[in-house]
Amino acid sequence: MKITPLIASRFLVDGGAMYSLVPKPIWNRLTPADEKNRIPQNLNAWLLELDDGRLGIVDPGCGDPESYPAKDRRINGLADEWLGTELDRVGVDRAKISFVILTHLHWDHSGGVGSDTESGETRLTFPNAEYYVHQFEWDDATGDNPYLFKAYPPTTITPLLHVDKSMLHLVDGEDTEILPGVRFILAGGHTRGSCTVFIDGQPELVHPSAEDCPITSGILFASDVCPTQHHLRMVFSTSFDTYPIDTRRWKRKWLTRVAEEQIVLWFDHDHEVFAARLAADPRAEFIMTHELPAKT
Ligand SMILES: [Zn+2]
Repeated sequence: MKITPLIASRFLVDGGAMYSLVPKPIWNRLTPADEKNRIPQNLNAWLLELDDGRLGIVDPGCGDPESYPAKDRRINGLADEWLGTELDRVGVDRAKISFVILTHLHWDHSGGVGSDTESGETRLTFPNAEYYVHQFEWDDATGDNPYLFKAYPPTTITPLLHVDKSMLHLVDGEDTEILPGVRFILAGGHTRGSCTVFIDGQPELVHPSAEDCPITSGILFASDVCPTQHHLRMVFSTSFDTYPIDTRRWKRKWLTRVAEEQIVLWFDHDHEVFAARLAADPRAEFIMTHELPAKT
């Protein structure tokens, strides 16, 4: 198995929303905000190559910035580069992507599935891909729940509705091997159907500093239950979490395990660090012992 990190999107988000209960004087030292209180975010995706040669993506990011209205692009500080340009850079044809794993269906993770053209048609970014998403996430994203107002804008859900049903896998287990060596593990917390992706063993990481953070006992794509290095602490969670107490529960269980078993933890929104190995720390809860810089 081979993992190539790709920065699927770069954008800006309200700093307070990213840190919830943490006071601004604290988080602003870690990630200084701009004049509109926004902080930089990546969407750090994976290009996965299975041992049988199949190629896939974990979390395709916000999608083509050209498909967003100018105002949305400006408010979200959406950069011109996206997953499409990243795949061009590494020489992978989008038509060769045979699967897309979606940890959850918020716009910054699933917007890259496709976009609506001006003529009202839907253009899928990966025309030949099968999609994996948790059943709970699908139910919540498509269920018109008024309490989830604005969590799942139609622009990011509509393309998935156009995917052929035979290509859409709604995963309903707690821990499922959805593809050879790829486990899709229900995390909850951030959303009811949020999942992490775990690759056991020693997959090859295609990165100029891969030896700084060697994978010896698996790598966990944490998604938004631990989106950045600053979210290792229990109280640092995003305001977008639908079930914040479950995010804390997840951290207590999984970050402990990550540290004990020396699993590499992948941060999907960190603009400085892609991944790290952890150690438990009596003061800081967890500290990073090996870091993989966020560059491709
Ligand atoms: Zn996110």
